[in-house]
Amino acid sequence: MARFTVFGNPVQHSLSPHIHTLFAQQLGVKDLQYTRSLTSPAQFMAAVAEFFRCGGAGANVTVPFKTAAAQLVTHQTERAARAGAVNTLIPLGYGQILGDNTDGYGLVADLKRQLRLPSLASLHVVVLGAGGAARGVLGPLCEAGIEQIIIANRTLKNAKELVQVNADLPLACASWQDLNGLHAQDYVVINATSASLHQVELPIPTALLSKSRLCYDMMYSKTPTLFMQQALAAGATTCSDGLGMLVEQAALSFALWHDGQVPATGDVLRQVREDLLGS
Ligand code: NDP
Repeated sequence: MARFTVFGNPVQHSLSPHIHTLFAQQLGVKDLQYTRSLTSPAQFMAAVAEFFRCGGAGANVTVPFKTAAAQLVTHQTERAARAGAVNTLIPLGYGQILGDNTDGYGLVADLKRQLRLPSLASLHVVVLGAGGAARGVLGPLCEAGIEQIIIANRTLKNAKELVQVNADLPLACASWQDLNGLHAQDYVVINATSASLHQVELPIPTALLSKSRLCYDMMYSKTPTLFMQQALAAGATTCSDGLGMLVEQAALSFALWHDGQVPATGDVLRQVREDLLGS
């Protein structure tokens, strides 16, 4: 039995076990067990070490442990190092663990699907938020060809820091007010704040939401997220939550654990959406 898990707190609503079980069924991978591991900040490192000591084949890491995971791994990929966060743990043997971050890949794959584009080259993006989720997707978005990313954040200082740390990427920062000056129809607006989670509307210009090519919330839920409701009320025609990003990042984690076998995601996303709505 190959054992996988996701470490988080809370973790009881994680969809990862369901998604990975569907991937395994699709690719005929037998004897896969994927569980949820609730742990605390004090216990996290010990819990990961114990899991791999007992033969764990791979693990995901979710809120609030992605930064701690980046500190415990012995090796990490370039994208994980840039993100300063790890969501996928791959055991290398002899106590060595490789850390990767598949969130940015997941977002890029989902944006391509939503926009029906083979490449994101020439798109302009506004990222709302400057926390862990924003940091994790900047590198992959730029690698996918995005010409410029404007980072707007409640605390402007945090957006400025992200721009400084990633000085090799085409980034700029903006206050909410600065967004009034953008020529809105060119942009994809990505909400990487946790404002929807706190049921707080973002003070961003209506025109930016109504005229953008896509308003995308990284958060997902049964019903449209508050950011999606805000975008729709502003007149946006195309908006989405982040469930597709979740399924896509899981697909890359799966491939990293199973000799590069990348599952098809379309049917799995439909199934997970149906199950989420029915739950
Ligand atoms: P962090 O706590 O690291 O960052 C939170 C961000 O939200 C900061 O930029 C913060 O601004 C901003 N923020 C918080 N509250 C408000 C508010 N009331 N008004 C305006 N801005 C606010 O969280 P993460 O970056 O880890 O997560 C952000 C979101 O991304 C979550 O909803 C998470 O579920 C989602 N996510 C989805 C994934 C997926 O696969 N679909 C993957 C990863 C994340 P400030 O700097 O001012 O504090």
